[in-house]
Amino acid sequence: MTGVYQQQFAVYARLYADTSNGFHVAKDQAAIDGLLGELGRQVATVEGQLSVAPNGLTAKAIAQLALDQMSIAQAQFGSLQVLVQKAAENDRLTVVNGPALDFQNNKSLAAKQQAADGTLLQNLAALLAKLDLAIAALQTATASGGGGTKRPLDDNPWFDESRRDRFLSQQATRFYALLQQFEQLNDNEREGTGQLEIFLDGVEAGSVEAAHRQGSQGLAVADALKPAIFALLADPAALPFRLDPFDETTWYEVTLANEPPGTPVTQYQDINDASGVPRYITGFAPVGGQLQAFLSQFISLAGAKSISDEDLKALLDAWTPNPGVVVGVYDVGQGNANAVCDGTGRPRYYYDLGGGCLANTGTYPFTPLANPNPFCRFFTQPVVLSHWDWDHWASAHRNRYAQYQQHHWIVPNQNLGAVHLQFAQDVQNNGTLTVWNPAGGTTVVTNVGTIQRCTGAGRNQSGIAWLADDTANPGPGPTLLPGDARYNFIPANGGGALAAMVCTHHGGWLPTNQAIPAPMGAGPAWANTRIAYSYGAGNTFGHPRNPTVTRHQNFGWINANRVDTAARGGVARGHINLRTPVGGGGIGVIAHAQIPNLCNPQTCDCQAAKS
Ligand SMILES: [Zn+2]
Ligand SMILES: [Zn+2]
Repeated sequence: MTGVYQQQFAVYARLYADTSNGFHVAKDQAAIDGLLGELGRQVATVEGQLSVAPNGLTAKAIAQLALDQMSIAQAQFGSLQVLVQKAAENDRLTVVNGPALDFQNNKSLAAKQQAADGTLLQNLAALLAKLDLAIAALQTATASGGGGTKRPLDDNPWFDESRRDRFLSQQATRFYALLQQFEQLNDNEREGTGQLEIFLDGVEAGSVEAAHRQGSQGLAVADALKPAIFALLADPAALPFRLDPFDETTWYEVTLANEPPGTPVTQYQDINDASGVPRYITGFAPVGGQLQAFLSQFISLAGAKSISDEDLKALLDAWTPNPGVVVGVYDVGQGNANAVCDGTGRPRYYYDLGGGCLANTGTYPFTPLANPNPFCRFFTQPVVLSHWDWDHWASAHRNRYAQYQQHHWIVPNQNLGAVHLQFAQDVQNNGTLTVWNPAGGTTVVTNVGTIQRCTGAGRNQSGIAWLADDTANPGPGPTLLPGDARYNFIPANGGGALAAMVCTHHGGWLPTNQAIPAPMGAGPAWANTRIAYSYGAGNTFGHPRNPTVTRHQNFGWINANRVDTAARGGVARGHINLRTPVGGGGIGVIAHAQIPNLCNPQTCDCQAAKS
């Protein structure tokens, strides 16, 4: 039985297929079509929720379930907009770089394709708005009171209501911002030669000035700051800053307007804000020397508790690995969350608790109502944070009711923006925040392997890596957990001896001159080594990159031994169990998508187990 919204969706999809002239690069079109299919299924899911017979559920509860599903649809729509924008930019390159003879013809084909894209987005936006209204009608059917004006973020169950006042900066025009990171949007081998997606980690200037008047700094003022994140697509040649060397430490003053002219950006109110609002940059310049020094101290981990090498060792030695210790690689969409788990599969130490955010929020697999506790918290597992990039701690920010912030977090000292500082403050308020800040290259050997400070510069390359193993009773080889660090910046990366590894940076772009730590040598063990890729299907970064995967294959991480958190080659998405660092046990047992004991809520009610 097909509902009216599903039918309408099918009509729009057919219209799009009929009016598209195939001008998009095949890969772009495939990505758009793939996401369109997903969105269609999600519309059906929302409609299914809306038509649920009350059957013990109040209309309000049904509306909440539908809202829950709706947030996924909205996130998918946000990603679709990004994909279409990227495809249009590639079309422009096709026109400009194509043969001169074809210029006029290509130009008109590109314009027609763009019109088809525009109609599709318009139709889908209208359809989603209608679904929204249907949900709202169901809500008001049972609502006892009137209520005020509904803001768009009210529809996003991931969004933290208690923080709303922090994010009312959409109308603000003046921000201080750091360059957060950039991603090349094609497979060019040279860094900074393709079109780039660039993030600015901003904070409303007035809120900094107000916080400063409180007479304190760092974690003590985090609550008073109003962060915002800006994403822009750019041609590197047109940028007002250098990419090589990339500088994450310079603060810029950025001015914005709600209307053109200006450089188009998407302003996100929070990392869990899936769609953002369009705005325009009208001014961009580094702040003066004094303000530079002030901001880098004011928005920093200054004053946070630190942890010594000895205390870090004691913390991780508190548990002695039992036989069957494994490494879990959780499916969190476009992000990273790993754990060293005991023989029953329960995580004892987390390494990152990240997940899909911003335009990739839709890749996150859990919904707040169905999965209030997506990760095990049966123990008060310490969390080692690889580095401060959003996609490596987003789960603990998002699932605020599950209170993953109550754990003991060991974090690297890195350059931070206001968004990070507020999360650090949450951890400090709800749990324990300690900063591990030894010199690059420092290693600490624990019961569960070697914790190490990476030796590079910039957030990805200067964090914490983990070479996991049962140290007293080692298995056939260790498992490398690199976070996003390039392997040559990891002092003990296990090269030549690894039983398994998580591919660095979700399989993102890697320079050609980088050696990749190889698996243990050929022989019976060879077939049982594993490489895990942690990413969300259809992510806006194009992870994992083909050249990166190929290079790993060339270093011995062959395709047959590859396993992804996302769906691939007929295998569904899901958690990965790298059963490799087993003391004396066998290796190579990979359960995918159906791990019984990784304590996800389908299989383990952690709260019940705790009581
Ligand atoms: Zn990163
Ligand atoms: Zn990452």
